[in-house]
Amino acid sequence: TFRALRVFKDAETVRAELQTLPLSELPDGDVLIRVSHSSLNYKDGLAVSGQPGVLRRYPMTPGIDLAGTVLTDDSGTYDAGDRVILTGWGIGERQDGGYAELARARPEWLVRQPGGTDATWAMSVGTAGFTAMLAVMALEEYGVEPGAGEVLVTGAAGGVGSTAIALLAAAGFTVTASTGRTEEETYLRGLGASNIISRDELPALTRPMEKERWAGVVDTVGGATLAGAYASTRSHGALAVCGLAGGSDLNTSVFPLILRGVGLLGIDSVTCPQPRREAAWARLARDLPASTLEQVTTVRGLSEVPELAPQILAGQVRGRTVVDVRR
Ligand code: NAP
Repeated sequence: TFRALRVFKDAETVRAELQTLPLSELPDGDVLIRVSHSSLNYKDGLAVSGQPGVLRRYPMTPGIDLAGTVLTDDSGTYDAGDRVILTGWGIGERQDGGYAELARARPEWLVRQPGGTDATWAMSVGTAGFTAMLAVMALEEYGVEPGAGEVLVTGAAGGVGSTAIALLAAAGFTVTASTGRTEEETYLRGLGASNIISRDELPALTRPMEKERWAGVVDTVGGATLAGAYASTRSHGALAVCGLAGGSDLNTSVFPLILRGVGLLGIDSVTCPQPRREAAWARLARDLPASTLEQVTTVRGLSEVPELAPQILAGQVRGRTVVDVRR
């Protein structure tokens, strides 16, 4: 048997409960993994608190991230004892995820744990940090270079935002952090932000094109915040669009695209192809300062996840939360 946090749906309510399950409850997949750590992302907050749109069926084990050790692999790709990371590919959404002591997965979904790192490191990166890395790579590929000017990070004190600041600062960019929690200024400067602006500043920019300011943008908020950032992005700058913590609408015009050559770049960590995944994880292991990552990370037990879920949705969780599934 193994312990898992299960989400059930009754006639009217959705509830999360720790349960002990038989191995027969595990989904299909060649690789059996002993999970040691998972993490808490915005999406997990939605899933555990019973919000629609994340879990595709019930009962389900949420957790879009996991790190652990291979027990068996029927495909022969991995050996027992190999340390692996799994993020996205629908775990914790369409198939049981990381909030359990055991998981089954397809070998092609897994990434080997980079040398010199451990499961706590991997989950303090998690989907949020991996997404931040993909966002920075996308900006760089568009031609946004250190020295080009300010790079804006929205939802700065959140998981994706915090890691994006640390990665951008480590790569030599000048970072401006947009946050609703200006009391977190010391924290954000500690990550490498040079400048802090209030969450209200961007939605106030409502004309199709505003004064040019941002060389690049990592946006986790969406809605009017993204529209404001887009209207004030500099010629041939780009926005890596990651999230919707503030809303999924995008009311704007094509002008920045066709008059400034601005790039509106979509980021999807869930279906990111394997070679790009491996490149992103290798760079995270190389470039994300371990001490900075430690500074943004809190470790909590699996039994604490139900109380943390509403907090991440309310924007009250700072940085990254690693979930130790053994406690
Ligand atoms: P998180 O830790 O909760 O961070 C979100 C941050 O957004 C909050 O900390 C807050 O930052 C800000 N925020 C929250 N509510 C807001 C509101 N109503 N208006 C304006 N700002 C608000 O979540 P996360 O895990 O970093 O994820 C961030 C977003 O990215 C989510 O929408 C998530 O679904 C998405 N995401 C997408 C991908 C992908 O593959 N595309 C991957 C991971 C995450 P401040 O307190 O600093 O203002």
